[in-house]
Amino acid sequence: VEESHTNLKSIFGASGVKGKKVTTLPPEITISHFIQSIIKNKSSQIDSPFSVLDLRVLMDLMTKWTTKLPTVKPYYAVKCNPNLSLIGTLASLGSNFDCASRAEIEAVLSLGVSPDRIIYANPCKSESHIKYAANVGVNITTYDSVGEIDKIKKWHPKCELVLRIKPQEDSGARSCLGLKYGALVEEVPELLKAADVAGLKVIGVSFHIGSGGGNAMAYHGAIALAKNVFETASLLGMPKMKILNIGGGFTSGTKFDVAALNVNDAIKTYFGNDEDLVVIGEPGRYFAETSFTLATKIIGKRVRGELKEYWIDDGIYGTLNNIMFDFAIVSCTPMRFSSKHEKNVRDTKSYASTVFGPTCDSVDTVLKEYELPELEVNDWLVFQNMGAYTLSSGTNFNGFSSSAKNIYLACSTPVPREETNF
Ligand code: PLP
Repeated sequence: VEESHTNLKSIFGASGVKGKKVTTLPPEITISHFIQSIIKNKSSQIDSPFSVLDLRVLMDLMTKWTTKLPTVKPYYAVKCNPNLSLIGTLASLGSNFDCASRAEIEAVLSLGVSPDRIIYANPCKSESHIKYAANVGVNITTYDSVGEIDKIKKWHPKCELVLRIKPQEDSGARSCLGLKYGALVEEVPELLKAADVAGLKVIGVSFHIGSGGGNAMAYHGAIALAKNVFETASLLGMPKMKILNIGGGFTSGTKFDVAALNVNDAIKTYFGNDEDLVVIGEPGRYFAETSFTLATKIIGKRVRGELKEYWIDDGIYGTLNNIMFDFAIVSCTPMRFSSKHEKNVRDTKSYASTVFGPTCDSVDTVLKEYELPELEVNDWLVFQNMGAYTLSSGTNFNGFSSSAKNIYLACSTPVPREETNF
């Protein structure tokens, strides 16, 4: 596999990455091996829990995005994971950004990204955050209510608007965002007129089909609906819209290919002859999910006959909050380090085990009836695909923290072309 050194150089020099240690892994060394070596080398001094960000995954996913969705500009949804090395890498790979709050805008700007690469994609913003956006020059935002138009007119009259609509079909995604946001079909004319009367320019339409495993066919219906809004605006005599924002909802596996086919087909069908159209997407999970791996230590054990119960130092209130808020079903691989195993290495029996998080709340249960070999205190559990809606939403409940402040950067070796599906 030919490595592009210029590409790697620019990633390692990206804001948010530059100055940090990035461990380049040779082909035979996986992220799992890397985690093992971190634990072995640092033994008792290691800060746990920790996560590993594999920059290679981001590079590969960006290549896949630009290959499969060449006409859709990615605006990474910072809410999904605001880690600065992740944002900086994506910025250097050409991504723009979807921010939902002042703090998210600040994070992106702190990396030297220009404000015109940001869409403030929160349909309901506080006045102080709108004022901040005006001050720093973030000039595009979404809306879905008349109340929002009043606030924007008052505090950021130069801001251009994108009308967020609610897709009609439920995509069956794990997190259905249409319950909260998106104008209904019958509200669209009123919302377009209200913005026009307020002297604000509506430049496009956005939607979100729902996050996590939604049916990719939903993009088709939502893009058709967006086209109707473009036509309504034109019938109302408003200036021609130019932005179609297809939101997030992408995952990085084979479902992405199906989603991309759907999106491309729908754009061709409904906007095929619109040469001025700018299509943007707001992928969060697509980039963040598979690029992070979590390592957490077993800090306690209780045996009740055949039932083995373990406590780990991360949980539902920390990195693994995705179980609660993102309806994630997680799985883990054990790593045995305890000296107790030495006399017992051939023990291959597994037990339906329980894994608790560290807080005193019994809700803080990570896995139940999960098959594990018998483990000991100071062994570790490693959870893959832990980058989406994990580090962004952990708490410090009971004085415990997530792995957010403890991130190692790695760059694995590229997968040979014939082994990828693009
Ligand atoms: N855009 C908006 C407006 C969102 O609310 C979200 C997620 O909540 C995203 C993009 C990212 O969605 P996903 O992680 O499914 O790509």
